[in-house]
Amino acid sequence: MTLYGEVIEVGRLTPHMVRVVLGGDGLAEFSPTPFTDQYVNALFLPPGAPYDVPFDPEVVKDAAPEHRPRGRRYSIRTWDPASGRLTIDFVVHGDVGFAGRWATHARPGDRLQIVGPSGGYTPDPDADWYLMVGDESALPAIAASLVRSPA
Ligand SMILES: Cc1cc2nc3c(=O)[nH]c(=O)nc-3n(C[C@H](O)[C@H](O)[C@H](O)COP(=O)(O)OP(=O)(O)OC[C@H]3O[C@@H](n4cnc5c(N)ncnc54)[C@H](O)[C@@H]3O)c2cc1C
Repeated sequence: MTLYGEVIEVGRLTPHMVRVVLGGDGLAEFSPTPFTDQYVNALFLPPGAPYDVPFDPEVVKDAAPEHRPRGRRYSIRTWDPASGRLTIDFVVHGDVGFAGRWATHARPGDRLQIVGPSGGYTPDPDADWYLMVGDESALPAIAASLVRSPA
């Protein structure tokens, strides 16, 4: 099953964090996990790749090495089953990195192919307290975990 989202909205949360909301028919088969650290493997097309999203991962395996998609893991900040909208928050540093560059320039109508989601962690609602620590790229997973933690 090939999953891909079409960019519906893009916004800057901070100078180094871009929020991308994906939607569309390519997410119709998206099946979330119950975990708050759930993430997808997002596949980014290198410049000049002679194919477009959606593509068959088996077929592009035979593409020239410089044209093969680059996989990067991204936490699911939110998934709204009613609207079929998937929100991902990207740390960006300008034109650095396949994923960061894509998010920096993302515009409505752009497409992103994904594999997953996977995950394995959810906060225990019976815990007395938690200390959640991470760098910027961990903030989306921490935020998703806080939403599911008792006040
Ligand atoms: C399970 C999991 C979930 C993740 N979820 C998220 C998520 O929700 N959001 C997110 O943003 N990341 C997330 N990450 C991290 C993300 O996958 C990596 O940062 C990834 O390498 C970014 O890909 P890239 O192609 O943009 O950059 P790459 O080329 O792979 O690596 C370059 C890295 O250096 C960073 N960098 C460049 N310049 C600077 C600078 N001046 N100072 C500091 N850093 C700099 C870039 O931002 C980038 O992260 C997650 C990782 C894992 C394993």
